[in-house]
Amino acid sequence: MSSRAPGTVVAAASREGRDIVAPLRRSDSYRWDSPDEKPSPDYSRSANPNRDELVTRLAELEGANGGVVTSSGQSAALLALLLIPSSARVIAPHDCYGGTYRLLEALAEQGRLSVEFVDLTDDDALDAALATETAMVWIETPSNPLLRLTDIASVAAKAKKAGALTVADNTLPTPCRQQPLALGCDLVMHSTTKAINGHGDCVGGALLARDAALIERIEFWANAAGLFGSPDAAARTLRGLRTLPLRVAAMEANARTVADYLADHDAVAAVHYPGFTDHPDHALAEQQQTGPGFMIAFDLVGGSPAVEAFLDRLELVNLASSLGAHSSLICVPATMTHRGMPDEAQARAGITPGLLRLSVGLEAASDIIADLGRALDS
Ligand SMILES: *Cc1c(COP(=O)(O)O)cnc(C)c1O
Repeated sequence: MSSRAPGTVVAAASREGRDIVAPLRRSDSYRWDSPDEKPSPDYSRSANPNRDELVTRLAELEGANGGVVTSSGQSAALLALLLIPSSARVIAPHDCYGGTYRLLEALAEQGRLSVEFVDLTDDDALDAALATETAMVWIETPSNPLLRLTDIASVAAKAKKAGALTVADNTLPTPCRQQPLALGCDLVMHSTTKAINGHGDCVGGALLARDAALIERIEFWANAAGLFGSPDAAARTLRGLRTLPLRVAAMEANARTVADYLADHDAVAAVHYPGFTDHPDHALAEQQQTGPGFMIAFDLVGGSPAVEAFLDRLELVNLASSLGAHSSLICVPATMTHRGMPDEAQARAGITPGLLRLSVGLEAASDIIADLGRALDS
């Protein structure tokens, strides 16, 4: 597969017939000419034209050579974990996505793997963790919800030296802003539910790689365990993907304006946004990402009671746990996206009860600011 510039709008043209957009192919199986000649595709669990096209387009954007489109981001995470032997050790960020935390903890409880949650921005902590034999290092940057950055190239190099596979959850930045495979990761995963579909109407995921042997193992396990996404979901996600670079640019421009507004407001105690020059990871953001993205985290003066009053007064911005959608979504990570994480783990990850996470959408920035302002002024 040839690679495309990350800013390229994906013009997914079908090469079959005269369609500009590939037809939806829902058939579960395909006719054989003879019992000895297996057609391709032959059965929709192992291959489907709509899914295959989405894999091709995502691989172009990530600089991958292949992979699999799955039923959700979580099934893509499970698929990555099926690549390592049973009872192998995984190092994951102490502030990873709540669902990833829950999955790793539950598998560890059953003895299927062991997991150590580490602050990957702490070099000494990572070195100490890698001193024990490790099969996989999980990276998620910027972190969710606090938008801390991990140096992907540095962590991937250390993991490689220690003989571990690295997987990067690239859901928040999207391939338009960050390409982990080019920075040395072996695998990149996505919840396509978020910005890649971007219209809030389809759950899906993906796991992609460069190495042919690794791609073969991903395809084997996705087929063996049945973790694939549906043709309908693939077609809808592809439709979202075609405008991903345009939407990311527009949402990011809005986020810069909204972050500036929040930072200047007396009712706001702190704003976490990698686009700010005084953000602790601003230099790394400039080096590793092509833009600061569309996510903002912030605290209100007055903590939890102030947050409740604020959320009550919002009209345009929706209280919801997803992100990367056309409409602006706000959430309280402690009780929403990160409820799968126990209280002490939340405290360690810096997730306080009053912290808010805002995914800035495609509305006019002035409308978003007017809505936030009305609620903040109350
Ligand atoms: C949403 C999300 C996931 C899980 O994806 P689903 O599609 O909800 O299964 C994983 N990682 C991150 C960063 C996410 O935001």
